[in-house]
Amino acid sequence: MLSGKRAVITGSTSGIGLGIARALASNGADVVLNGFGDPQAIEKERLNIELEFGVKARFIQADLSQAQSTRQFIEDSVSALGGIDILVNNAGIQHTDLIENFPIDRWDAVIALNLSAVFHGTAAALPHMKTQGWGRIINIASAHGLVASAQKSAYVAAKHGVVGLTKVIALENAGNGVTANAICPGWVRTPLVERQIEAMAAKNGTDIETAAKELLSEKQPSLQFVSPEQLGAAAVFLCSDAAAQMTGTSLSMDGGWTAR
Ligand code: NAD
Repeated sequence: MLSGKRAVITGSTSGIGLGIARALASNGADVVLNGFGDPQAIEKERLNIELEFGVKARFIQADLSQAQSTRQFIEDSVSALGGIDILVNNAGIQHTDLIENFPIDRWDAVIALNLSAVFHGTAAALPHMKTQGWGRIINIASAHGLVASAQKSAYVAAKHGVVGLTKVIALENAGNGVTANAICPGWVRTPLVERQIEAMAAKNGTDIETAAKELLSEKQPSLQFVSPEQLGAAAVFLCSDAAAQMTGTSLSMDGGWTAR
């Protein structure tokens, strides 16, 4: 279905981004992976994608918390794949603390990666997509793009910003073949959340699995984690012809989190 399409997925060395990259590749798209991590493990993931799905997979390291590196990363991806059809803005970090204790450098870092990188990556990708008259921007926001939690000021502000920015991208490109949508996941058991489960276990003096259940029961009525594979399938759908008129939306995949 996506054969011949060229997809760039930020923060795809791990978690949700890797799940989305694999889903797009399994449908025939060439992919650029990005993010940090152990070089050997990254190379293994990259090679697995090429061997399993018979597509081109490239890895391009770039620190997307910097405006210029983000814009350069998109141009390097275009050179590596010969163009860009799909941009998945996924890279993100978390920091939790009360507003009055929130370190300034953590606020700046969360806003830079979780919000500003979406702006810079999109700005660099759009001219290519508009010229070819087809493009898909998929922003990985969060349930925290729609509702809030205490101690997550920077994250909630950034993710609400991503939901708003997605609507602007959609409006500015309506009718020219480029759509923009946000996916808003609830809890997904990735390294980003594993750290929060560990913190909860330490705080409550429980084991990790008890803490994972507590984390779910606070927010996610299904009491089940969303998987990177399910999010990957949603991204594939947003790239399909069936979703051509779907733009500016926020697709919740959160086990009922934002239904109450
Ligand atoms: P993760 O920690 O598993 O992956 C984050 C990815 O971003 C990694 O590849 C990491 O190397 C990369 N990254 C970190 N800093 C970077 C930087 N400066 N430049 C480039 N890449 C960088 O996290 P995840 O849970 O897979 O999160 C992915 C996205 O999904 C984030 O935007 C997160 O906010 C969002 N999200 C996660 C959950 C969840 O429950 N895990 C829920 C809702 C939304």
